[in-house]
Amino acid sequence: MTRIDCAIIGAGWAGLSAAALLKACGREALVLDKARGPGGRSSTRRQGGFTLDHGAQYFTARSEAFIQQVQAWRDLGLIQAWDPAIDVVGARPDNAGQTPAERLVGVPGMNAVLSYLAKNQRCQFGWRLESMQFDGHWQLVSSEGERIQARHLLLTAPPPQALALLRADHPLAEQVAGVRMAPCWTLMLGFDRKLDQVPDAAFVNQGPISWLARNGTKPGRNEESWVVQASGAWSREHLEDSADAVTENLLTAFHALVPAAKDRRPSLKSAHRWRYAQAENPLDCQFLGHPEQNLAVAGDWCAGNRIEGAWTSGRAAATWFL
Ligand SMILES: Cc1cc2nc3c(=O)[nH]c(=O)nc-3n(C[C@H](O)[C@H](O)[C@H](O)COP(=O)(O)OP(=O)(O)OC[C@H]3O[C@@H](n4cnc5c(N)ncnc54)[C@H](O)[C@@H]3O)c2cc1C
Repeated sequence: MTRIDCAIIGAGWAGLSAAALLKACGREALVLDKARGPGGRSSTRRQGGFTLDHGAQYFTARSEAFIQQVQAWRDLGLIQAWDPAIDVVGARPDNAGQTPAERLVGVPGMNAVLSYLAKNQRCQFGWRLESMQFDGHWQLVSSEGERIQARHLLLTAPPPQALALLRADHPLAEQVAGVRMAPCWTLMLGFDRKLDQVPDAAFVNQGPISWLARNGTKPGRNEESWVVQASGAWSREHLEDSADAVTENLLTAFHALVPAAKDRRPSLKSAHRWRYAQAENPLDCQFLGHPEQNLAVAGDWCAGNRIEGAWTSGRAAATWFL
């Protein structure tokens, strides 16, 4: 049995920003994630010789604290600005956000900062939390039956997964259950040769696709690889379709938007389903805490539905533990 001061479930932006802050304050934390590496919904997929940001595409920095943090990562060469020429297809919706001053990306992949943070923390990957019970300490059991005892627990899984672990009768359950997560089917494409006369990226306001990006136009990449994301509505409608069916459907829609790709056979085509991609109705609370149990639940869905929100939420929860 491993005994630890703070156990953190999730090696995404929320979990790793919390771990970094706790470590900086001399506290002992262990980050546990079911995935093979850090990143969560901001992962980078390496497949068929291509590198693809198949989750978060870029991020922005608005708060003073995050702007300062971003500068430090920039100085380390972990992030750079991406200034794509973005097409807009279809009528811009009324609720479309303002154009950000700067779009930032990890270099060479969106997970660059998270890989850096994970290297400097105690992390265990391939460790799926199966059950958690509080008896004065947190007793955590993995899907493989490994046991960890923790004084403090920070849960950063997306709401439906956090809820399954908390169980419906927990005092925090109602708030967690109230957050709706939109799904997102993502198509990844790789071509052996460059395409001509294509946009760097596009916001699409009609049909199955909502966003497409020529991944290779981001700094530090140079391949002809594309990430195509379906809208929330289309993804929900096709949630249980096979990856093969989704690939063919989205490829047809992609060809309509990028005709130059029509006669080119992609050497990579693969679809990924994000069942819980982004919160439709995020809370406005930074994180949820249960002081009697030294339990915090955090993530982007507590403080906006983006990377900056996840970072803010994780740090706020860690500060509460200090
Ligand atoms: C398709 C898509 C596009 C997006 N585009 C953008 C964008 O352009 N800009 C932007 O700012 N944001 C974007 N986002 C949102 C952004 O990715 C998230 O805000 C951010 O990555 C969330 O970080 P997090 O740490 O809160 O959660 P996550 O990244 O989801 O981390 C949670 C971690 O918990 C782990 N976990 C879950 N359950 C368990 C368990 N039982 N045991 C162990 N580990 C577990 C998961 O493996 C995961 O690594 C996008 C998201 C998606 C999916």
